[in-house]
Amino acid sequence: MKKIILLLSLLVLYSNFFLAQTYNSKPYRKQVRPTKNVILMIPDGTSIGVVSAARWYQIFNNLGGENLAIDAYICGTVKTFSSNAPIGDSAPTTSAYMTGMAQQTGNVAIYPLKDSENDLVEVDSSMSYQPLATILEASRIEKNKATGLVVTVEFPHATPADCSAHHYSRGRYNQIAPQMVYQDLDVMFGGGISLITDDMKQHFSDKNIAYYADDINSFHKHTNGKIWALWCDRHMPYDLDRDTQIPSLQEMTEKAIDILSKNENGFFLMVEGSKVDWAAHANDAVGCITEYLAFDKAVKSALDFAQKEGNTTVIVVPDHGNSGFTTGRRDLRSYDKASITQLFGNISKYKKTSEGLEKILLKESPDKFKTLIKEYTDIDITDDELSALINSENYKPENYMKVSDGKNMTSKLVEIMNKRTYFGFTSGGHTAEEVFLVAYHPQGDIPIGMNTNIEINHYLSDVIGLEKRLPELTKEIFVKHTEVFKGLTYSINKTNSDFPILIIKQGKKTLEIPAFKSIAYFNKKVVDIGSVAVYIDKNDMFYIPAKMVELFNN
Ligand SMILES: [Zn+2]
Repeated sequence: MKKIILLLSLLVLYSNFFLAQTYNSKPYRKQVRPTKNVILMIPDGTSIGVVSAARWYQIFNNLGGENLAIDAYICGTVKTFSSNAPIGDSAPTTSAYMTGMAQQTGNVAIYPLKDSENDLVEVDSSMSYQPLATILEASRIEKNKATGLVVTVEFPHATPADCSAHHYSRGRYNQIAPQMVYQDLDVMFGGGISLITDDMKQHFSDKNIAYYADDINSFHKHTNGKIWALWCDRHMPYDLDRDTQIPSLQEMTEKAIDILSKNENGFFLMVEGSKVDWAAHANDAVGCITEYLAFDKAVKSALDFAQKEGNTTVIVVPDHGNSGFTTGRRDLRSYDKASITQLFGNISKYKKTSEGLEKILLKESPDKFKTLIKEYTDIDITDDELSALINSENYKPENYMKVSDGKNMTSKLVEIMNKRTYFGFTSGGHTAEEVFLVAYHPQGDIPIGMNTNIEINHYLSDVIGLEKRLPELTKEIFVKHTEVFKGLTYSINKTNSDFPILIIKQGKKTLEIPAFKSIAYFNKKVVDIGSVAVYIDKNDMFYIPAKMVELFNN
């Protein structure tokens, strides 16, 4: 028995040894001189295999020389994971870059629950659900920088939300979207018009933030002041499928830089190549390749700006791998004899992604399918393939992560397109391999070698020049209301259970703090609280700035 106890205590010691305190204020492992501007670019779910195929595709089609924009700046790899799993979901992976703490599936910039059996980092159960300050929030609050987000999915999707909102569940758009609006971003470009509410429109108007919906002309004309420009009800089309009414990721990146660079204190911009990940989930090779190339052009614009401007850092890093994409697969026996034409000839004739092609076919009668598929892919489909297409279940957008289930038309189209190429996929989900790291810093203070996702956060904190580190900022702006208003009378009005209101009363003074906004009402007068008030239903807690109690101090 004694032996067992000794063994157990040794095991505990041993495991604690590996689980070092992860949420900390440490600087990066080498000196990093701060720069005025920082551009973080995330090609979502982009495994290195996609990058390699994209480069060959670019060469084969004479689309811009032998090299990608990232090539000269590839400097290392990043181990990216969830707090309790080696393969990460998008929400916790970018949240780790943004906050410096690994998190669980679904978590948006929030402290994870403890999962003793599976945790890969030390998790303190007393901090469960604690919203964690992000690099974007610190850039704005502490450094007075302008902030911007550019994506091609609906704006409250995981990666942009990770920068600018807090929730334990990425799917709760109704509580994430208002946080992003009330974050008073200088620039937000992406999809998601259907998610804008009347209250949000009112806030745009109160704060003099220009809001444009599906309006490319106003987007082009806008040169000064805060701007939200959105396209499409939810996500924007793939680059290969878009028309001239939809801007490219490169155009949006350049416009964002133009606007943000007018701030004398500099800016923090996050640009996401959002849908490389979606194409990888769908096993759509031409989608992966062309979506990455669209992202690479945006990287070129960011690097051109950085080099010209002289005080800007650019970091490019995917949030995780996806799909095990390869050029070459099991049925390519003479792999070493396959020419570039054999490998890239057919895919280069695909003028639409499976999603784009499906959109066309869904509006047509089946007798047109053969001709249309020939037109957009140069493929002569067989009769079996035709009947498989006709029998596909109707497409549902929320199924994009499950395209490999073989039920909707895109998955049939993917099968047809992949059969004529030699690209391999081992999965329709995320994968755990390290991702590539690309960095440009004017003095060469770049992160190198293998980095963890947490180290990338420490690097970003250094290069933004945060003297007050994120854990300290968290303690200032996300404090439990029970601590902030200790000794005062408070209650939570849950008439609208999704948007509760914290009410504090003392004598004739009343403070009302609505959830997921950055404003409060003190004796009915609007007060800007400087950061978003986060409400967590799990522990019935508001997380708000500690200094709010000062309203009652005089
Ligand atoms: Zn992702």
